[in-house]
Amino acid sequence: MFDKEAFTLFKFAKKLNQSFQNRRELLDCALPALRDLFKLDRVYFFNWQQERALLSLNLMCKKEYCMDMQEDISVLGEPDFLKTLLRDGIADSTELNYPAVYVLLRWKKPNMILDGEEVRTVRKDSVGVLRLERFRRNRHFTEAEKKLIKSVAAEISHNLTNTEEDQAKNQRLNIATALNDLATIFASSLRLSDGLELILQGVQKYFRFDRVRLYQTNYDGTKIKSILGIDISGEVARQTGEDLPEDERTLLKEIFSSGATYRSINNVVYIPLKVQRKKVGFLTFDNLLSRRRIDYLDFISLKQFSSQIALAIDNASLFERVQELSNYDELTKLPVRRFFSEKFSEEIYRSKRFDLILSLIVLDIDLFKQINDTYGHQIGDWALKEVSRVIRTSLRQTDFPCRYGGDEMVIMLPRTNDEEAKIIAKRLKERINAIAIPDRYTDGQRVTLSISQGIASFPQDGRNAEELFEKADKALYWVKDGRRGTFAVYREVADQVEE
Ligand code: GH3
Ligand code: MG
Repeated sequence: MFDKEAFTLFKFAKKLNQSFQNRRELLDCALPALRDLFKLDRVYFFNWQQERALLSLNLMCKKEYCMDMQEDISVLGEPDFLKTLLRDGIADSTELNYPAVYVLLRWKKPNMILDGEEVRTVRKDSVGVLRLERFRRNRHFTEAEKKLIKSVAAEISHNLTNTEEDQAKNQRLNIATALNDLATIFASSLRLSDGLELILQGVQKYFRFDRVRLYQTNYDGTKIKSILGIDISGEVARQTGEDLPEDERTLLKEIFSSGATYRSINNVVYIPLKVQRKKVGFLTFDNLLSRRRIDYLDFISLKQFSSQIALAIDNASLFERVQELSNYDELTKLPVRRFFSEKFSEEIYRSKRFDLILSLIVLDIDLFKQINDTYGHQIGDWALKEVSRVIRTSLRQTDFPCRYGGDEMVIMLPRTNDEEAKIIAKRLKERINAIAIPDRYTDGQRVTLSISQGIASFPQDGRNAEELFEKADKALYWVKDGRRGTFAVYREVADQVEE
């Protein structure tokens, strides 16, 4: 008898000795084997939700295959068989009019939780119940059979633990692979905006979200600078903060203030992007259209990945700001020569391409060395700042000035002919003539500044940046030659300028 029992168990264990993708796959194999072994007419598998006092029916195995079922049976009144079941692990049914036994399955299920910034695995006890039925020939279960059923149930429980463990491992591996791929894409993309786009597309693809959106905010998280979104068809959409609908603004404010992140109920997940305390933006993922629930494991994985995204965004904007700083001259706050040259080439290209006109003013402070020598470098600096302030405040939005070097400034005037450029030159001349050095430095004398200016226009005076600059400079030197304080257009004085 003992040998036969051991052999049965061995055969059963052998059958289950394979790797299953998930619990369902394992039960699909175990339940028919159980049915054959004990000549059963039907086997049910229930999930036991202890806290809700429910047996929820999951599977029914009748002939060759198992069927999904869904029905909740309340066990609130704790029928007699349940007490016995919990005590002995097996119990005869007391509510059915044919032979049936309940047998307990206990296994451990790993769950990932987010503990601060760390993902931890906790193993939770899971309980299930099998109901084995013989309703056809009314054959009762013998004590020996019940003992063997208990052993078989223990074998199934053991396999359930392994399967859940494998499943979680695979899931983690898949996610780790996905995130690693994403990080590689991120690291290899040259421009931040391209990188972000690829990342969002990757996230959408790997995690199968309907929509993914990235909100970039200013540092205190009060203003949205831009939104990058990937919709269900994979299409990329960009929006700037200004175009943002009012309800999106309110939503964002709400999320930031409540810190809400995981709202699986609505199939929407919000993940704040922060670097230390600095707010960089928000990621949102949703399955609003497909209505699929967003898995908690997906959420925590993305949450971990989000710190990399946040850091990258922060680094990039820092880089942008540094670049911005290096584009401007510290003393005068005007763009520097290099930055100007870039813009000037672009503008010349545009002017050629679209047949537009453009003018250039080169200006230089008159006898500036004298100011330095007479009143000191500090007053010289002050004068430079004043001249620059006048330039900055006297131009249109599209005009582009720069400090070319020393006391020389250059101004690009897109879509401006020489007549209009002269009007601007006149305005600059007058305003700069009105700058007087504070009289406490000049023994009460009125000492004012003056500038000389040379003007050249595209396309008449030159067809490229160098040529235009050269002509404007020549006009300036014609002015400097005994005509300080005035201005000239190259073409008008060309015959007096020595080549
Ligand atoms: P001109 O009318 O012919 O232009 O006479 P100028 O004295 O202005 O001669 P130039 O333009 O060649 O001299 C420029 C002077 O500007 C020389 C230099 O000492 C002074 N300078 C250049 N950069 C700065 C600066 O950042 N601060 C101050 N205070 N002076 C500067
Ligand atoms: Mg000068």
